Amino acid sequence: MTTAPTTDGVLVDRYGRVARDLRVSLTDKCNLRCTYCMPAEGLPWLSGPQLLTDDEIIRLIRVAVHRLGVTEVRFTGGEPLIRPGLVGIVSAVAALRPRPRISLTTNGIGLARLAPTLRAAGLDRVNVSLDTVDRTRFAELTRRDRLADVLAGLAGAAAAGLTPVKVNAVLMRGVNDDEAPALLRFALAHGYELRFIEQMPLDAQHGWDRGRMVTADQILADLRAEFDLSTDLAERGASPAETWLVDGGPARVGVIASVTRPFCGDCDRTRLTADGQVRACLFATEESDLRGALRAGADDAELARRWRTAMWGKRAGHGIDDPTFLQPARPMSAIGG
Ligand code: SAM
Ligand code: SF4
Repeated sequence: MTTAPTTDGVLVDRYGRVARDLRVSLTDKCNLRCTYCMPAEGLPWLSGPQLLTDDEIIRLIRVAVHRLGVTEVRFTGGEPLIRPGLVGIVSAVAALRPRPRISLTTNGIGLARLAPTLRAAGLDRVNVSLDTVDRTRFAELTRRDRLADVLAGLAGAAAAGLTPVKVNAVLMRGVNDDEAPALLRFALAHGYELRFIEQMPLDAQHGWDRGRMVTADQILADLRAEFDLSTDLAERGASPAETWLVDGGPARVGVIASVTRPFCGDCDRTRLTADGQVRACLFATEESDLRGALRAGADDAELARRWRTAMWGKRAGHGIDDPTFLQPARPMSAIGG
């Protein structure tokens, strides 16, 4: 890979995209086993020494904010709420200047208890993943009977002011593909902003099937049978979600059509895995090892240089529709969704 030009201050790639949105995976472990994400028995988890420590994570985020122009930090996993040091990490990131916006993608279990503390530490927003509002289905889909905890987590997030609370839903054929209108009714009733995500080939079991995935067009058609969806004139920017006003607004619904309407040309993301690897894309097959450099004594300037080089090599698109497409070796839960 060629070295990035020495423009300090931004993470730019050879196609001119600038990455300002950093996704940090805090753990590859999870307390659910969503069938589209993980096998029932879990995965071979990263070991303690492989994981970045809290201080290492904070240092790398500081490098990203101070030297690389990152303005958004989103914590994810695995399940980020099960990382013991989460609150301390959030408050250290909130103390950075310029202060990045800080958000969290979570399955919501434990959020009811943690939301006020996280809010006080500086967390701005949450996205909670919820694919069904039916208890039996939830238990089948996630292999755990925890719907009540997730609903309590959503309510706790809203009460703590982690707003707008967004709900992420993945639909799967024959499992919950009839539930788009019910999920939207639920979100509207509680004031949450719902976004559907097309299922992507990132499952550990390699069970994804392009022909069986529920497409954005199908989701929108199902919603339109019950709701009036009109164009949302708000600026989309680098957001992956296309949004529509529901019944004239102000409520919105979004669809992230990563597969059928890829938005790679506007992508502004860079990713850090729980073991300290930079990934330019969810679907990247290459990673750049910052943990090794950091533990070998690299200074901040050297870490920033390596990060810029990793991003310079970002491919133009994910290539899911390309016959040569190769699913990345790591599943979504280990990359950080
Ligand atoms: N455990 C947290 C959660 O579920 O929100 C954070 C990690 S999870 C990997 C992040 C998001 O990725 C979730 O919204 C989840 O539904 C989504 N996801 C996982 N596997 C996916 C797949 N194969 N295709 C599309 N989205 C997926
Ligand atoms: Fe866990 Fe999130 Fe994967 Fe579900 S989608 S198994 S909650 S990491």
